[in-house]
Order: sequence, then structure tokens, then C-alpha cells
Amino acid sequence: MVGWDAEQGITLTLARGDTTLLIELEPLDPARDCYARTALFNVCVRRQFAAGHDLSELDHHAMDQLVRLVRDREADLPRFDRPTTNRRSLVREIEVDRVLVPEGAGHYYVDPYVGCMIGCEFCYVGPRADLSRRLEGLPELAWGRYVDVKINAAEVLRRELPQHPPGVLRMSPLVTDPYQPLESHYRITRQCLEAMVGTGYVPTILTRGARVVDDLDLLTRFPRAAVGFSIPSDDDAMRVRFEPGGDPIDERLDALERCSRAGLATFAVIQPVLPMNVERLVDLVAPWARAVRIDRMHDIPRVRHLYDAAGLGWAAEPAFFDRTIAELRERFAARGVPYDELDDMTSVLGLAPG
Ligand code: SF4
Repeated sequence: MVGWDAEQGITLTLARGDTTLLIELEPLDPARDCYARTALFNVCVRRQFAAGHDLSELDHHAMDQLVRLVRDREADLPRFDRPTTNRRSLVREIEVDRVLVPEGAGHYYVDPYVGCMIGCEFCYVGPRADLSRRLEGLPELAWGRYVDVKINAAEVLRRELPQHPPGVLRMSPLVTDPYQPLESHYRITRQCLEAMVGTGYVPTILTRGARVVDDLDLLTRFPRAAVGFSIPSDDDAMRVRFEPGGDPIDERLDALERCSRAGLATFAVIQPVLPMNVERLVDLVAPWARAVRIDRMHDIPRVRHLYDAAGLGWAAEPAFFDRTIAELRERFAARGVPYDELDDMTSVLGLAPG
């Protein structure tokens, strides 16, 4: 086991040779696909840095042992009566004793915060982060209504960085957005970047926040650094419908251009694909992005109401995603912008360690 995390459900990373398995224990949900179910969890697994690869016999063996272990021990997990709260939102300053999470193959991540006040309703993290809060006995609050600020993250990171071989360190939306509005006040993401300068680690950021440009002075001090923006449509009306807490699309596009002009390795993540003018979006993004990743909206039943309220039921259908993704891929390819097939943007950008 090379890494673990308990902030978005329970996550374990197993590595052997070139194979890295990311295992996620999500809240039990019989309606969702997973590798196996236990009394409390959906146990999910995927190969890291090799999307689409089937599990080998050895991978299955490791997984079956792990599932057995979880079944044997899950009864020991604490069960709290969750306290109630009448707070509409809650920002807590917390101290942590670890912040750098190894992902295998020279990849790491850091979450400067837990929780995200941008609060996109489609965010897949909410139910998993709530599982972690439940295991800690914290009150239930809707996703987007709470943030834990890791007030000592940079200090801990300074201590942890020399304990590992330098590699790619991503601060991307796992259980937070590193440039959510609170970053303007707390500057935890900036402090973490400051801790990384001169260490050989390569920062990789993905955000819906244009305020990342406030840190251009710092990011350009790294010999290699990558910044990407989630840009799911060219149409800001879609942003208002689906991610009203995110920065306007034109501000993200402007920030993408500024990062590119500053010499950073820039990328765009078109996800979740929303109704758009494909040609226009590609025209706006292609000049400033060195690579793109494109993906559909997942877990449609959870967000069906957003589509219905907007009269956009057709855009929740598989045919819309298949058609739009194919067209996006074709048009980006025609503009010479490579597509991230393996869910490993750092390889596409030429930043991968080794
Ligand atoms: S900005 Fe990212 S992390 Fe934050 S709620 Fe939206 S999808 Fe989730």
C-alpha cells in the first residue's frame, strides 16, 4: 500500500511493479456498480494511469483479499449518533498531521481544504465526503455548505516533501477546489505552493476558479508547472444552471489564456459535457490549452432535476454525450490539441516523472 486517504470515503492505493490500483470505499448503494459490496460499503477499483485496462488475475486476488478484510473489520468502525446543527454553512479551521498523499508512480496529491463552497450539485465527491464526516461523528451538512481549512497544511507539507522522491503533485478537485472563494482569504493553496518551490516537485492544478492568476508570480517560479480549467460549455447560461458557484466561463477562459501566455503547461477539462456550441468552445480553448480531457455527466439520476428544471432533458441522454464528445475530440484533434486517454494529464503534457 503506497497511500491512503479518509477524506472522500476511504481510499487506498496499492502498487506492484507498473500496476497501481486505486480502491475507493463508497457508501453502500445497491444501485451503483462496484467491484464488491460489504455491509457498509461499495468497494470500487480502477487501475490508475491506465484507464480502460482490465484487472489481471493478480489484481483480482489482491482485491478479493481486501474485500475479505473489510468485511471482517467493518463492524469495528465507530458509529456515532450524528450531532444536529442549525448552521446553514460551516467553515472550520483544522490542524492536520499529514497532507501529502502518494498515488504511486511518482504522483502525489494535496487537498488544502476539505469541502468546496462552489458547491456544484453534480459533484461526485459529496456523498463520499459525507461518509467520512459520518465516520468522524460530524453533523450532516449539504455538500457546498462546509469547508475544513487545513490551517497548518504548508507547515506539514514542508516536513513531508523531503521524505519522498519528487514527482508530480496535483492540487485538483478531489475533495475541494484549490481556488474556491475561501482561498482569497486563507491562501492555503498558495502557502503549499510556496513550500514546494525549489523541491523538484511539479505542481499541477485543476480549478473552476479564475483567481489562480493571483498566483502566477509563484507558479512561474517552477521550472515546470501545469494549470488546467474545468470548462464544461462555452455558454455561461449553462454555468448558471449547473455550477452557479463557479466563476463565469469568460473569466476562466481569460485565466487560461493568461496562464498559457505566462508559459505554464495549460489544459482544459470539458467535464461534465453540457449543451454548447462545440465549434465556438474549441475556437476559444484550443489556442491556449496544450491538452484536453473530455467526459460526460455521471450519475444522471442524482442530477436529473437540474436538466428537467432547465428543460434540457435531451442533454442528459447518452446520445447527446456520445455525439458531443466525438465532435469535440475530432475538432480538438484537428487543431493539434491532444486528448488525455489515460486519465493522466501529466503524461500528455510531458510532465510525468521518470
Ligand atoms: S468546483 Fe469541483 S470540487 Fe467544487 S463542488 Fe464543483 S466539481 Fe466539486
